[in-house]
Amino acid sequence: MGADVLERMNRGLIMRTGAYLTNDHFVISSGRHAQEYVEKRLVTTEPPFTEGLGEIIAQHFAASPADVVLASGIGATILGHCVARAHPSRPKLLYAVKGKGKDGKTHVTLPREFSPFIYRGCSALIVEDIVTTGSTIHSLIQLVKGRGGRVVGIGSLWNRNPRIKFAPPFFALVTQDFHTYLREECPLCRKGTPLNTEVGALVGAPTRRGRGARRAGS
Ligand SMILES: [Zn+2]
Repeated sequence: MGADVLERMNRGLIMRTGAYLTNDHFVISSGRHAQEYVEKRLVTTEPPFTEGLGEIIAQHFAASPADVVLASGIGATILGHCVARAHPSRPKLLYAVKGKGKDGKTHVTLPREFSPFIYRGCSALIVEDIVTTGSTIHSLIQLVKGRGGRVVGIGSLWNRNPRIKFAPPFFALVTQDFHTYLREECPLCRKGTPLNTEVGALVGAPTRRGRGARRAGS
């Protein structure tokens, strides 16, 4: 089966969680407009789907023994649990806590109780839900390396940045960025399509007319 066919199937799976919305009119966090949106909080709401997606990632890295699966953030950790559960080397599941450094950049810290599990020579599989800038993943790689461990792979559901590069092997179920528009150039605005205020940067704004976002494919 070709990689493109697999990717289309994976995208279908993510659509069924309700997290991938399309054929609507969104304002994303940068203020740009888009016809598609991934609501990362909705990716892990359906346990059977999360388990299925976790299994695909675990199978991809089945030949890479891992002592731990490491994630950061609630959604990524729920997914990480499913990856760890399905991985043949029965890794432990750990999470790092996210924060902002004095430089304003994302940094992650390992809760002290998890310290014994990332040791010199240990193998870690990093799991992330949606990759946008990759800054969390870079921080997690540094965390593992800083403790003398080795990252055997990085698995994610959706990579929104096709140009992103990491030193360890990187696998995303779907790699796709959305076309986004400046408001002044947005073809949906030009057509008069109402903005979705229930998803995206306009949540709570009173401008929406009509119903909420349609689930893709429904
Ligand atoms: Zn628009």
